[in-house]
Amino acid sequence: MDKANVASLTTRMSTFDHEQVVFCQDKATGLKAIIAIHNTVLGPAVGGTRMWAYASEDDAVTDVLRLSRGMTYKNALAGLNIGGGKAVIIGDARKDKNEALIRRFGKFVDSLAGKYITAEDVGISTKDMEYVKQETDHVVGLPDYRGGGGDPSPVTAYGVYMGMKASMKELSGNDSLSGKKILVQGVGHVGEYLVSHLVKENAEVIISDIYEDRVKAVVSKYGVKAVDVSEVYHQKIDVYSPCALGATVNDETLAKLTCSIICGAANNQLANEQIHGAEVQKKGILYAPDYLVNAGGIINCYWEIIGYSREAAFAQAQGIYDKTLEIFSKSKSENIPTYLAANLLAEARINQIGKIKLSY
Ligand code: NAD
Repeated sequence: MDKANVASLTTRMSTFDHEQVVFCQDKATGLKAIIAIHNTVLGPAVGGTRMWAYASEDDAVTDVLRLSRGMTYKNALAGLNIGGGKAVIIGDARKDKNEALIRRFGKFVDSLAGKYITAEDVGISTKDMEYVKQETDHVVGLPDYRGGGGDPSPVTAYGVYMGMKASMKELSGNDSLSGKKILVQGVGHVGEYLVSHLVKENAEVIISDIYEDRVKAVVSKYGVKAVDVSEVYHQKIDVYSPCALGATVNDETLAKLTCSIICGAANNQLANEQIHGAEVQKKGILYAPDYLVNAGGIINCYWEIIGYSREAAFAQAQGIYDKTLEIFSKSKSENIPTYLAANLLAEARINQIGKIKLSY
């Protein structure tokens, strides 16, 4: 890396105050990875590893800086004693991934001596985490037969459900979802568990998924309705629950959406946080910040770090209900969008807890 590139990297790191960025390469396995540690005020940096065929190294840097910062906010707001970090492996997970490459990556994680704890993300499976575990103890997201927390999706779905009930409470004074029209976009791991909670509460559930077999399976198991993916934003609904992709709340969809609540599991739902966060507020739509309501997954990982208990993970995910109400209250009293209220609460916790650490 030439001088100008190094300077631009440290400048980019200082823009959002990243602590450390580690570049890893290994010729023998072909590994190229970047580990970004954003903030460790609350504890070791925790966040998944993503394997992706980035178009350029610059794209990989941008992604890892953005994602690691996001983890700091998510972990802080969820009340966890962990900081924010993330790793990316540059490559096509279907073609380039193998045991040696992943274990080599595990060795790099180990070299950080616990300052960064990794987990799975896009392109990485629990099997890969087992390979990482062969090289380091600083890994979570292991299957239950390896002493891990197993699939985090049920905890994530429960947290989203809690956030949705809190949103309904804020809107109508009553948190019952019975009879409410709720559209769940994407019925994969989290989406299906969410549907099961909603059906149990007698909500009127509509689902949508790009895979016909997923739609058929969920419709026949829960007796819900389905709409084509092209029809999602034209539905007259109470709640829109994005559980597939990010950036679905954008100029185009906001022009069509008629819901009163947006609350779902997908990461980065607002295409542009500032613009669309303000726009939903202007339209009178209550937006439950995604990184709060989908924190069940990281809560599950956290319990794996401190001593796993499924019960404790669910109990902590239940706290998302009160935290969602706290965010709405701050948003109302300060007349700011809910995403901003969430960010401010996360920053306040980091500052406050950072101060108590100064004294012995
Ligand atoms: P998943 O891959 O199991 O499910 C996603 C589903 O969305 C799939 O069934 C897929 O076919 C469907 N889908 C994709 N594009 C779609 C579209 N345009 N319209 C409708 N459906 C579409 O993923 P998941 O684990 O259920 O996670 C769902 C979302 O929640 C993701 O954005 C993920 O990043 C986020 N999330 C998941 C967890 C977790 O614990 N799994 C935790 C935090 C956040």
